[in-house]
Amino acid sequence: MKLSNMLISTLREVPAEAEIPSHQLMLRAGMMRKMASGVYNFMPTGIRVLKKIENIVREEMDKTGAQEFLASALLPAELWMESGRWDVMGEEMFRLKDRNDRDFCLGPTHEEVFTDIARNEIKSYKQLPLNLYQIQTKYRDERRPRFGVMRSREFIMKDAYSFDKDQSGLDTSYMKMYEAYTNIFKRCSLDCSAVEADSGAMGGSGSAEFMVKSEVGEDEVVFCSCCNYAANMEKAPAIPQEQIKEEYLTLNKIETPEIRSIEELVRFFNTTEDKFAKTLIYKADGKTIAVMVRGDRAVNETKVVNAIGGAIDFNMADAETVKVVTSAEVGFAGPIGINADMLLVDEEVSKMYNFVVGSNETGFHYENVNYGRDFKGKVGDFRNVIEGDKCPKCGGSLTIARGVEVGHIFKLGTKYSQSMGATFIDENGEDKPLVMGCYGIGINRTMAAIIEQHHDDNGITWPLAIAPYHVIVVPVVTKDEEQMRIAENLYLELKKLGVEVLMDDRNERVGVKFKDSDLIGIPMRITVGKKISEGKVEFKLRTNSENEVISIEEVIDKVKEEFIKNNLKL
Ligand code: ATP
Ligand code: MG
Repeated sequence: MKLSNMLISTLREVPAEAEIPSHQLMLRAGMMRKMASGVYNFMPTGIRVLKKIENIVREEMDKTGAQEFLASALLPAELWMESGRWDVMGEEMFRLKDRNDRDFCLGPTHEEVFTDIARNEIKSYKQLPLNLYQIQTKYRDERRPRFGVMRSREFIMKDAYSFDKDQSGLDTSYMKMYEAYTNIFKRCSLDCSAVEADSGAMGGSGSAEFMVKSEVGEDEVVFCSCCNYAANMEKAPAIPQEQIKEEYLTLNKIETPEIRSIEELVRFFNTTEDKFAKTLIYKADGKTIAVMVRGDRAVNETKVVNAIGGAIDFNMADAETVKVVTSAEVGFAGPIGINADMLLVDEEVSKMYNFVVGSNETGFHYENVNYGRDFKGKVGDFRNVIEGDKCPKCGGSLTIARGVEVGHIFKLGTKYSQSMGATFIDENGEDKPLVMGCYGIGINRTMAAIIEQHHDDNGITWPLAIAPYHVIVVPVVTKDEEQMRIAENLYLELKKLGVEVLMDDRNERVGVKFKDSDLIGIPMRITVGKKISEGKVEFKLRTNSENEVISIEEVIDKVKEEFIKNNLKL
């Protein structure tokens, strides 16, 4: 492709709305443009990158024996009512009505659709196992669309659904996806780890997220510094730290006027945060849940929701509710005499000695509180892991890093097949529910994640397998006929070989041309300038600062070499 014929829309300025490198660079390099909050149009270079990622995904999925499918994005409400998710999806689902006032939605995910397909098409165990996948546009009215296509309201997802006759079949299907995902993200040059993820209160027997390590990630990932244990923060079990045994002291109510926060309490009692237990009040589907964790810990809401058997609507309680539950102003909640529907006590708190809690009376706290003697509740793991906590696998020390979730694999079991009646006849002629798994990859988010890991001050540094074009040929002076003739020959020769090549034949200063090709991130650049008088051109890799002066005859071999180095065929 010649740049004079192309829509090149690079920007020199960093767009104000873009906070993270991938978002800034996708806009600056002209890969995409925003149309509305969380809604983007992909430009010619951007769509080429998306297609590359899609093709890697497609190849690896096909290798596992999965079959490509394409479902509609416009979905009838009835399907969602059958599974019970029409209400559960809440405001995240884009809903619409047709001319006959029938309810539809724009698919945020397709479990219902594929379960419906399976119940219509699969009759016998002989048709199993089966894995169907699609690469298709999803719609989610995210509460906070942000970071460009990292969290957008329309995005392309590869979603796959496996159907097996039993759990061990599902285990095999799941492992195949695990391996395919590992290959996919490796081919995308992503430094990525599969981490244990929460499978929710509604069941599901296993789940892993593929996390790209990145400072801009919205997820926290827990890693062991000794073994290969890795888990999402939501899931990682917290092991209580050792406590030094103390004699029980007498429970004592202390006047603490206007002392509410842990910081204020630490100052007032002249001690440390770990001598306090805080009580947080939540509302879960209308019920009030009090959760106690040590003063310096954070409540893990996923663990809480799982412990109460799931909740559709789960939020911190408002001040009014707190007043009703504690009979006090906000800041004085505690376990003794609390009027909540449920009291959850983090295991660590149940093992502490003589600690301080709120007294459910404005202006007072209790000291020398002990679990068992002074109050009781449901004890469990309700807190987030912190750096230095013990690894649940090997006892080593845990560390925490940020990550971007690019993919998710999930053992669904029979959740959907049971609610929607998707059954098959087994070897003994019995009717059984299909055992399902589901597997997603965010294609656009993967593109953004690749940029997060592959960029420098001048722009994107695409890995060769993902780059919109492999090579750019830059004639320095477009008016110089000889330069143009040699550039054109190289361009045509490379094209003939199957190399995806650009020629910057624009009548621009060479500095502008270099800036654009660096910004867009073309992996190889061939500059055709004055040195052609000696039969030479310049060859430069985007990731190298060095320019190599080579003879014109060597160019093709140089390019081929890069393909070999990157394990790519021409
Ligand atoms: P998140 O926790 O980030 O919202 P999710 O758990 O909702 O993700 P899934 O429903 O498992 O995501 O979707 C599968 C994949 O789709 C995710 O791993 C992610 O790569 C991608 N994805 C999900 N939501 C978005 C979004 N709003 N924008 C872009 N990609 C998304
Ligand atoms: Mg989500």
